[in-house]
Amino acid sequence: MKILITGGAGFIGSALIRLLINETDHEILNVDKLTYAGNLESLKSITNNPRYKFICADICDSEAVNRFVLEFRPDKIMHLAAESHVDRSVDAPGDFIETNIVGTYTLLNAARRLQDSGADLLFHHVSTDEVFGSLGATGLFTETTPYSPRSPYSASKASSDHLVRAWGETYGLPFVITNCSNNYGPYQFPEKLIPLMIMNALAKKPLPIYGNGENVRDWLYVDDHARALYMVATEGQVGETYNIGGNSEKTNLDVVNTLCDVMNELQPAEKFYYRKLIIHVTDRPGHDLRYAIDTSKIKRELGWQPEESFDTGLRKTVNWYLNNLPWCKAVAGGYGQERLGLQPVN
Ligand code: NAD
Repeated sequence: MKILITGGAGFIGSALIRLLINETDHEILNVDKLTYAGNLESLKSITNNPRYKFICADICDSEAVNRFVLEFRPDKIMHLAAESHVDRSVDAPGDFIETNIVGTYTLLNAARRLQDSGADLLFHHVSTDEVFGSLGATGLFTETTPYSPRSPYSASKASSDHLVRAWGETYGLPFVITNCSNNYGPYQFPEKLIPLMIMNALAKKPLPIYGNGENVRDWLYVDDHARALYMVATEGQVGETYNIGGNSEKTNLDVVNTLCDVMNELQPAEKFYYRKLIIHVTDRPGHDLRYAIDTSKIKRELGWQPEESFDTGLRKTVNWYLNNLPWCKAVAGGYGQERLGLQPVN
């Protein structure tokens, strides 16, 4: 099979490509613009494989998109390219509208052209549970939960989910959509909670928790997500949505406390040293209280469930960062772990 992956130099896309190259025989074309979040270092282990090709392109560039889609003629398009950081969407929503909405539209049009030329293909849109909005203390997001996005990021992902469904209904483009909870694991850009805390703890900098730290997220180890994506792309029902999650609900404060304890074991410091670095800072504007996922559909229909618990996944993650500090330095570029998302533009 030929699989076109957009955003393959990012955190989840690179995990997916490593999985597909190492564990399947498929031919992979990775298309990525290499924004601050994309780094080919994350694909170093598979770059020389003859089944892997890379094109540097912007998914909003319709000429380039039409060219690579019609030349490569993929059996599946797995679309992950996106602006993905909520705090950045607060500061500068324009890039999110461009890449996440216009970019998805551009890719859908190219997919439609390919289909019109007689190809049999599937468009897989990789999305987030944040499209469903915020839960109270109880309840879970299911595949039929109404959309209620509340940040520029989640609104742009909700828009792209709707576009994909519309292209399916209106033009008969075969699609699947997956909505997943918070991922963590190796190769995640150090602006996201877990790698940011690891890097700050190592630098003996404060560990900033937004607000009271009681916001709840579900956490999934990235390789479990990559396996789920491959399963949905190959065995999922066309026209269906699948929720993916780790059945690991944690408050942000719990996540950082546990991380501090793992750090203490793997990079020993005086007892509770890392926990003492925790500080509370101004909350994120519009910070959703709780996300939680009902994963029974993907478990029942495809037999998928996560292999890692939060404890085993977190330990692997901390270990990986401790052993890959040069990767962190190389990708961080101009990002100095500063606070983002407090200065909305007018
Ligand atoms: P990421 O920010 O690490 O990677 C995004 C990749 O897309 C980067 O390699 C970047 O260079 C590329 N990209 C950005 N704009 C582009 C453009 N205009 N043209 C081509 N490439 C472009 O993101 P991630 O965390 O790997 O997330 C991947 C996908 O999964 C996103 O669609 C995101 O919404 C979704 N998702 C992420 C999470 C999570 O916890 N990280 C959870 C659920 C869903």
